[in-house]
Amino acid sequence: MAKNRICLTCGSEYQYCPNCSGAKDIPAWKTEFDEESCKDIFNVISGYNMNIIPAKDVVAVLKKYNITDTSKYKKSIRTKLNEAIETVEATKSEEKTDNKPKFEKKSYK
Ligand SMILES: [Zn+2]
Repeated sequence: MAKNRICLTCGSEYQYCPNCSGAKDIPAWKTEFDEESCKDIFNVISGYNMNIIPAKDVVAVLKKYNITDTSKYKKSIRTKLNEAIETVEATKSEEKTDNKPKFEKKSYK
């Protein structure tokens, strides 16, 4: 019997059927998430919330799945994703200001 489930990360409804044929091939995370990216994002955000995973690791998961739009995720997840992205962006621009411009060679004619 197919069950309608709701993904913990993005809130999408999906079909989950533990007793259907081929169910043994269904990964365990399918009980809570519709897609593997949702599982990974949920895990990384949980760690980020507990300060055991740095913001750059959160961004790395987004990059892994080529996710540029966080609007499909639930508000609690989205807020943290955006926070992590901003943190990484801020770090990047700090690094840029540390790099002093290289001395340009003067050309004589
Ligand atoms: Zn999902």
